[in-house]
Amino acid sequence: MITHPTYIYDIAAIREDFPILHQYHHDAVPLIYLDSAASSQKPYQVIEAIQHYYQTYNANVHRGIHKLSEEATQAYEGVRKKVRNFINAGSRREIIFTRGTTEGTNLVAQTWGRNFLKPGDVILSTVMEHHANIVPWQLLSEQIGVKVMYIPILPNGTLDLAAYERILRENPVKLVTVAHVSNVLGTINPVADMAVKAHDAGALILVDAAQSAPHLPLDVQAIDADFLVFSSHKMVGPTGIGVLYGKRDILEKMPPWMGGGDMIATVTLEGSTWNDLPYKFEAGTPSIAEAIGFGAAIDYLSAIGMDKIHAQEQQMTAYLLERLSEVPGVTVFGPEADKKSAVAAFVVEGAHAHDVAQLLDAEGIAVRAGHHCAMPLHTELGVSATSRASFYLYNTYDEVDVLIEALYTVQRTLR
Ligand code: PMP
Repeated sequence: MITHPTYIYDIAAIREDFPILHQYHHDAVPLIYLDSAASSQKPYQVIEAIQHYYQTYNANVHRGIHKLSEEATQAYEGVRKKVRNFINAGSRREIIFTRGTTEGTNLVAQTWGRNFLKPGDVILSTVMEHHANIVPWQLLSEQIGVKVMYIPILPNGTLDLAAYERILRENPVKLVTVAHVSNVLGTINPVADMAVKAHDAGALILVDAAQSAPHLPLDVQAIDADFLVFSSHKMVGPTGIGVLYGKRDILEKMPPWMGGGDMIATVTLEGSTWNDLPYKFEAGTPSIAEAIGFGAAIDYLSAIGMDKIHAQEQQMTAYLLERLSEVPGVTVFGPEADKKSAVAAFVVEGAHAHDVAQLLDAEGIAVRAGHHCAMPLHTELGVSATSRASFYLYNTYDEVDVLIEALYTVQRTLR
């Protein structure tokens, strides 16, 4: 058996910050949470920031003259600056708060897509996308007649980049829309290189960073992304808040999506004019408490360092893949560890993915089973469902060892 690599940061201190990790599952076995790709756990720092807001300065933002509203506004807008720094955006006006990744892709489809594309134009997605980066484009296709095409994958679970270039050459592609990291295969896609090729072909690029923002240092300017979307809840922050980054000149030209308070400059009974960026895209009372919790999450991750989190997870991925390869009858999908982020989707020969997940749950191990909102990818892989172990900064090598032992137990039980 291979030995545990050393941790890059103080793992015990980090685990202390996450109250949920210290409970017993089914009141019997310690919880091993391996479902962070679906949603991550939250540290005290995030939970307390939300509680502190509600207890001491809860008020609506951008509206009140009174002290509480000013404090709430300052905190809310302060988070926008934190997001800007976190992804190295050029301006805070390029940071639009959304409910999450899904809202971000839909917003781009319904404002940029609906207004600047015409029938026959091509949106180029990939076979490995989450439904949140497929369905919004299919809806747009039904609405205005754009065509949706998909970059295929190679047998090792990476994108077929030769096919990518060919599709760009042969079709009027206007937008390339691609996951930075696949939520099933874990593949880290070369989005900066893909952006160069998209731009050379006259297309824009949208990067779905739902699975990369939690795990890797992100730099929208280095990637040269035109749009980039992600969710707070996968990066130790609360649900109900996420980000659409867009280049300022593109966002300036886009009409608003939802109408209501805060997004207007003037309203008469005959018509309205729009507020400046980013407020043009933030209609109604936003998720204030969630934004404040998100700010605490960014502070938390930044204090550890995204480079360290990534390096630790690379070690952990290599260890997990190595250990899984020891278990006969287990097949893991996706590329080798150095091209992959913190996730392993697998099948156990002769067992249904849901049965595997249920038996692992009885051992205290939370994994997800199903198609993980990536049905076309599962069709391509030739399986209807996989079990998925996904980890984050708080997981340990010991937990991986428990998972491996539990897989042997699963096999004995199902034999
Ligand atoms: N894209 C990817 C790659 C994802 O993993 C997810 C979440 N599973 C989403 C988009 C959608 O994120 P949300 O549900 O937070 O909008």
